Amino acid sequence: MIQDILKKQKLNREDIIYLLSVTGEDEKTLFRHAAQIKEKTVGNTVYLRGLIEMSNVCAKDCLYCGIRKSNPNTNRYTLDENEILSAIRFAHENRYGSVAIQSGELNSPAFIHKVDNMLRQAKEITHNEIGITLSCGEQTEETYRRWFNSGAHRYLLRIESSDELLYYRIHPRDRNHSYDIRVEALKTLRKIGYQVGTGVMIGLPFQTVEHLADDLIFMRTLDIDMCGMGPYIEHKETPLYESREELLSIQERFRLTLHMIAILRIMMPDINIAATTALQAIDKLGREKAIQVGANVLMPNITPGKYRDNYSLYENKPCTNENADDCKSCINIRVQMVNHEVGYAGWGDSKRFEKRKFNLSH
Ligand code: SAH
Repeated sequence: MIQDILKKQKLNREDIIYLLSVTGEDEKTLFRHAAQIKEKTVGNTVYLRGLIEMSNVCAKDCLYCGIRKSNPNTNRYTLDENEILSAIRFAHENRYGSVAIQSGELNSPAFIHKVDNMLRQAKEITHNEIGITLSCGEQTEETYRRWFNSGAHRYLLRIESSDELLYYRIHPRDRNHSYDIRVEALKTLRKIGYQVGTGVMIGLPFQTVEHLADDLIFMRTLDIDMCGMGPYIEHKETPLYESREELLSIQERFRLTLHMIAILRIMMPDINIAATTALQAIDKLGREKAIQVGANVLMPNITPGKYRDNYSLYENKPCTNENADDCKSCINIRVQMVNHEVGYAGWGDSKRFEKRKFNLSH
């Protein structure tokens, strides 16, 4: 049965639901198949994005997130220009190739200017060598364009859940948290010319395998270039914590995430898929396991150590007591352990994006 599904050119909703649920030998077959597809299309190179958590100041109130505006117990911080640039310099000197700059969501002119300025300086001090992914939430088309013109070329904006009803069970239902605006933002990013990434949380309360299958179909329909998705991990100081009785076990959420990665790799062989930090919060080798079943991007944290505790999106976030240098030595060993190699110095752009660009210009 599983062999028949894996032979198909295009998986349908029922196929995906079936694959999300396989266990035992069938699960191994699924993972092996995804690994083979990855090797054939994007190879066994893992690209790095040095992750800089720029600020945990956030104007949003997402019901699952530890740095939501209404959590009074978060120590708010914003990295200053020197701290950001020295993290970027570190990534460049260690040939990481790219950085990913993530932040709580702000739309103030001061924030927009700060990001813009940082982008220009990052390009200048690295002689245009560093690749930059932004993950700074929903912004206007004008802001996205400004940042693109200043050097950002990839943007990650998770849809969190592609099901509108579920979306509003995990976000306040107001203008500041509009599902339609988030979907529109993804389309705007594509129009401007970014490599566009999205993703979802896996194992949310009220989420079914049907929702997850639809999430994967949403990604295929949008023809995304990159994906970052991870298990939902409850945080005590958030409203969604009240629904913890509804949750799958943490191990089930982990396993489901590996399935999602493997199936997405089969559905979209040439995109970039991140092995996300939340996997490592559950299993010390979580990210390596994700690489083995289809992921090809790692985001080692290069935020200055003293701030890391405060970017607590969820509980048990790993490596918060370390510095960038500690991660550096760890990466090679981890990647080699699963018979992959690190793609140093290159941007490691999405092959999907390169192909689409080529097709448009020919
Ligand atoms: N403000 C940016 C970045 C948000 S933080 C934006 O809106 O894109 C990055 C991601 O962390 C979120 O997109 C969300 O998917 C994830 N996250 C937040 N809380 C989480 C939790 N409790 N468990 C797992 N992932 C979480």
